[in-house]
Amino acid sequence: MPELPEVEVTRRSFADRIAGASVERVRLGKPLRWPLGCAPDGLVGRRVQAVQRRGKYLLVQLDAGWLLLHLGMSGSLQFAAALPPPGAHDHFEMHTSRGLLRLHDPRRFGAVVHVPSLDDTRARKLLDGLGVEPLEAGFDPLAFHRSLQMRRASIKQVLLAGDIVVGVGNIYASEALFLAGIRPTTRADRISRPRAARLHRAIVDVLQRALALGGSTLRDFSSAEGQSGYFQLDAMVYDRAGQPCRVCATPIRSLRQGQRSTYYCPLCQRP
Ligand SMILES: [Zn+2]
Repeated sequence: MPELPEVEVTRRSFADRIAGASVERVRLGKPLRWPLGCAPDGLVGRRVQAVQRRGKYLLVQLDAGWLLLHLGMSGSLQFAAALPPPGAHDHFEMHTSRGLLRLHDPRRFGAVVHVPSLDDTRARKLLDGLGVEPLEAGFDPLAFHRSLQMRRASIKQVLLAGDIVVGVGNIYASEALFLAGIRPTTRADRISRPRAARLHRAIVDVLQRALALGGSTLRDFSSAEGQSGYFQLDAMVYDRAGQPCRVCATPIRSLRQGQRSTYYCPLCQRP
């Protein structure tokens, strides 16, 4: 599943190149998670001003309105002057004066939604519940600790919920909790201020490392230039059940938390 670093890498790979382009034609494939919300022809003539990101949404700012784009479970974007004819899994194409933006999404949990403004009800439904951006200055260790104090759920679940800090998916949550020495099942409100500060730093470190690697966790992920952004995360715990901890050699354990697998070292990570 594309996580925040992959979405940000995707954004950087085409944001500058598509800025200023005018929309010439839009083609839809099979239905995605949500409908586009306007007639495809209604986008013709619109000019792309910028591509921003909020959580795992790419926000394509047009001279009138926005396109909210989500890669879902298996989506990837390409932007190029020319691409081969669309395949069975290419469900959104926007031809512009600067090239073709194409969403490839075999599982179709992704979406492209047009909204007249970010205050629009549909935009707010998607964006309002999102927590702070982990790679921006608003992600502050003390505020993070205060937010955790309000939650009785396990820290792993709280991170995945994304309403305190956004975009820390399963892999990065597992890795950050290892780096911080915190057991994933620990109640969020039982985490002390120093431990919350360590976790804060671990989240930033893990995400920045992934970003630097051109991060992807999706096998067929490619950045919008068509380069493979896939990298094998050199995971400390994720997907390593039964294998020795890279720090203390204790076998890594796994458990299920809210339908998701969690991995941890019973010695390095304290409750
Ligand atoms: Zn260990």
